[in-house]
Amino acid sequence: MLTSKIKTPMQYPVSHTHYPTVFQAVGNTPLFPLDRIAEAEGISPKVRLLAKAEWFNPGGSVKDRPARQIIMDALGQGQLEGKRLLDSTSGNMGIAYATLCAALGIRVTLAVPANASPERLKVLRVLGAEIILTDPLEGSDGAILVAREIAASEPDVYFYANQYNNASNWKAHYLTTAPEILEQTGGQITHFVAGLGTSGTLTGAGRYFNEFAPGIRLAGVQPDSPLHGLEGLKHMESAIKPGIYDPLLADIDLPVRTEDAYEMTRRLGREEGLFAGISSGAALVGALDLARGLDHGVIVAIFPDAGYKYLSDPLWEDVE
Ligand code: PMP
Repeated sequence: MLTSKIKTPMQYPVSHTHYPTVFQAVGNTPLFPLDRIAEAEGISPKVRLLAKAEWFNPGGSVKDRPARQIIMDALGQGQLEGKRLLDSTSGNMGIAYATLCAALGIRVTLAVPANASPERLKVLRVLGAEIILTDPLEGSDGAILVAREIAASEPDVYFYANQYNNASNWKAHYLTTAPEILEQTGGQITHFVAGLGTSGTLTGAGRYFNEFAPGIRLAGVQPDSPLHGLEGLKHMESAIKPGIYDPLLADIDLPVRTEDAYEMTRRLGREEGLFAGISSGAALVGALDLARGLDHGVIVAIFPDAGYKYLSDPLWEDVE
């Protein structure tokens, strides 16, 4: 049920500045230079490696951006009134939905693979989300199928946010992530690196760059094989392809091995003081592969979240 704070569709402003404060805190995340790792890896001193630290968002990940856009667009179009927001998620998008919807008094139901880390499930429950656990062996694709079924069987109860096929997902990055990066680098960015999950980050930011700063090369990071441990990322060839995924957009494909991403995630903590999540390590492995082939440039990599949610992960098993 919605609270009385919720307005009728026509009253919904398109700007987040008219929403609760937590909506306004999304975005404008910092950009960190990774000079120590770049130097240790023998990268040309004329190549700048920069990480956009998305865990500075209120829900702790890059997914606050698409969640905010999806919610604002759905409310603006009258699709969410009197309904629960439903979607499938491996965690971060769920936390983003739950955070923002709590501030609006909107209820959230999430289909989540049962092997999502206990930390994530706990955070979702703390934020009041209803969780439907799906077959861990089916991964995020299994959760998608369950969410689809529920949405189809009870269309009056649920607004199916459908992050994999909702244009508001990539639009968020078109409207915020890319313009922020252009401004933060003074227009100097030459390469943009993002991991592919729904592909919203690469699609939205990539489209903005192509339109307003053509020449910036777009690189997509993917797991190198269907069976991988890169939480949040998809091996596109073998997965259910997101409807918003544009296979022709990336100029450069950067396949990354799980073990290499794990190792780089550890190094980020020790050598740069950045306690990042595994897909950030993967983005950096990809960015370094790219950097090795350049003698000058400014590479910006998206670091989607921090390491806290992965503490029970095999990645940190050997840390005493
Ligand atoms: N890394 C993590 C940790 C994520 O949760 C996600 C979102 N699934 C991504 C990367 C990929 O972002 P996108 O969905 O925009 O492709």
